[in-house]
Amino acid sequence: MRKVIAIDGPSGAGKSTIARMLAQKLGFEYLDTGALYRAVALYLVRLGLRENATDDEVAEAVKKVYVVFRQGRVIMNGADVSDEIRTPEASHFASVFSARRPVREHLLEIQRDAARHTDIVAEGRDMTTVVFPGACRKFYLDASVGERTRRRTLELAAKGFEVNEEEIRMEIAERDARDAGRDIAPLRKADDALFIESTGLPVEKVLMKIMEHLPEEKDGACGAAAGGGAACRS
Ligand code: C5P
Repeated sequence: MRKVIAIDGPSGAGKSTIARMLAQKLGFEYLDTGALYRAVALYLVRLGLRENATDDEVAEAVKKVYVVFRQGRVIMNGADVSDEIRTPEASHFASVFSARRPVREHLLEIQRDAARHTDIVAEGRDMTTVVFPGACRKFYLDASVGERTRRRTLELAAKGFEVNEEEIRMEIAERDARDAGRDIAPLRKADDALFIESTGLPVEKVLMKIMEHLPEEKDGACGAAAGGGAACRS
């Protein structure tokens, strides 16, 4: 297992932007676990599964889905689904199906595998608590619902979606409640994660705050700073 920097937080907190920038700065790979949940959910929806699917149906279906990242694109069973997984409908079903045990179990090893041969910055909802509890450094990124709604509205508008800010606020609140309220791997701050409130902060400032807590990483020595490789395992 290589070095892992783990970042969790709710949707729209800026995790992907920060994780991508941090990975680039450190020469680590970026692991976008939300993309994995989105791709699996897309597969299940295409099969016709919805909220009322049984766990057995979901378990049977996920056996046949393979998701990989290739040159920054998300490939599901050989097809590039990078754009389809970013629609509001895909966000909804990612949140719905990510609460299902067979989906989480299927993706657990895939996520851990990503850190077997490469140093990674991993972001999601349970990076610090379940997937990489022994990560070198852990962060919990948050922002107010208003700010997260604003960011998500701008992001969707930039992609050409027709946006209604109130609907987006409701969708964010609904996803927050589902992600934090589920029985398996709920979103929560790990005791040893550093809480960063990013409301009103430009990304450069947030990145700087994170870098302040990675003094040794600037020299590529995350493992040493964390007390050796032992503190750096999943
Ligand atoms: O991060 P993103 O918004 O792309 O994630 C989509 C959905 O996938 C989230 O709303 C959440 O329900 C789920 N997810 C998760 N665990 C992760 C990453 C994402 O449950 N580690």
